[in-house]
Amino acid sequence: MIKPAERIYMDHNASSPLRPTARAAMMAALESDGNASSVHREGRAARRLIEDAREQVAALIGTQSANVVFTSGATEANNMVLTVPWDTVYMAGIEHESVMAPVGASDANLVALSVDNSGVVDLGYFATAVLQHRAPDGRELLTLQLANNETGVCQDVAAAAGFARQHGVCVHTDAVQACGRIAVDFDDLDVDLLSLSSHKIGGPMGVGALIIRDGFELPTLIHGGGQERRRRAGTENVAAIAGFGAAAVTAKAELAAENERLRVLRDFAEAALLECAPEALIVGADADRLPNTLCIALPGDLAETTVIKLDLAGVAISAGSACSSGKVGASHVLTEMGLAPDVARSAVRISLGWNTAETSLEEFLSRFRRLLLPDRRAVA
Ligand code: PMP
Repeated sequence: MIKPAERIYMDHNASSPLRPTARAAMMAALESDGNASSVHREGRAARRLIEDAREQVAALIGTQSANVVFTSGATEANNMVLTVPWDTVYMAGIEHESVMAPVGASDANLVALSVDNSGVVDLGYFATAVLQHRAPDGRELLTLQLANNETGVCQDVAAAAGFARQHGVCVHTDAVQACGRIAVDFDDLDVDLLSLSSHKIGGPMGVGALIIRDGFELPTLIHGGGQERRRRAGTENVAAIAGFGAAAVTAKAELAAENERLRVLRDFAEAALLECAPEALIVGADADRLPNTLCIALPGDLAETTVIKLDLAGVAISAGSACSSGKVGASHVLTEMGLAPDVARSAVRISLGWNTAETSLEEFLSRFRRLLLPDRRAVA
């Protein structure tokens, strides 16, 4: 039973709370004194923790540990992709800001990919664009997210990568939201570069990884010491990396069961919300979506107001992506999908995760009905 004063956290796409296994691994790692670059016993112990975590993260996505480069998070991993002086970048306007901003700041010629109103990137258009735009010997990149942080809509990265690589276009995928929620296999995706973030899988914040295909040459973003096989300088955050590794182990072990459990809970919440607000719009309902994400537009309501009302009632959800909260205005993702501005500004995101119990969901629905429905009926 959830007590009336108890908080209900349903914002796992913004950050998934630290898993107990990750916390325990971090606490243990904090006991270790050495710098992983030192040759003495303490240094070797720190190195062991990092290399174990590298194997654990690699196992989560079915790759070799040598391909894993630890970073300060997915923002850094996404920025690293732009250290190559790309001539052309193919990208849709639904990518995360940490992909879009470095692409925008680069000298690359941007080919904007279109998105339908379910949030699915038009890969037919991509194929045509590649055939038309391809500059002989040009360095070309497709950056295509696996799943969207706001809507949960998934893209067929493997299909796009197959075509792209046949035509000499390199491929990066931001797998931050997909990883730990659906099966992600680096080799099956056949991409060159893949970004991960620890805190979306229940690891600590401020650590992530870029997975680099064996043999792929990527210039360094952060220069300095020889850490991470000269691919990312700076003394490693051993405790955070150990926590990331532990979260990866738990996420992998629980993936199949959690995927199914969360899908059932999400679908239940979606049906219950539609029953009490039939005019609501489920964003991305027709597309393949992450099992934990529900993006719902409640026309007539302002998302910020919904979020504040629910926060006061002890429920944490978000309006658009957390990174853009504080900004008034429709999310770039929903706008790109062609939602009318007032509909886009009414959309909130409910995202479930490892600590979402059925009882929390029922209590969320009861608070939602109590708080939001009387106002909606008054307006209607
Ligand atoms: N990509 C996506 C799709 C995200 O959702 C986020 C986090 N909101 C990031 C990248 C950035 O990750 P980090 O917080 O590790 O920098």
